Amino acid sequence: MEHRTEEPVYRTPLRYRLCPKCARAVPISSPEHYCINDGSWLLEACPLCSAPIFSPYACYCASCGEALRAPDRQEDAMNSG
Ligand SMILES: [Zn+2]
Ligand SMILES: [Zn+2]
Repeated sequence: MEHRTEEPVYRTPLRYRLCPKCARAVPISSPEHYCINDGSWLLEACPLCSAPIFSPYACYCASCGEALRAPDRQEDAMNSG
């Protein structure tokens, strides 16, 4: 019985979720949806053009250049009164 299992290997690039706050990255297959560091909602794709994120080190969208990481605010101390 000749049975060949020659299937073309499709390399699906691994996608990631990114924390917009601390830039933490988790694989898209991870059950994490919120950053375990700061509780931020993890970006699954570019908020502007919804291009998927293929690099765990991405700081900007590869498709449109949108910043994936929210600009760091310096201590915004609110003193009223
Ligand atoms: Zn975070
Ligand atoms: Zn984009």
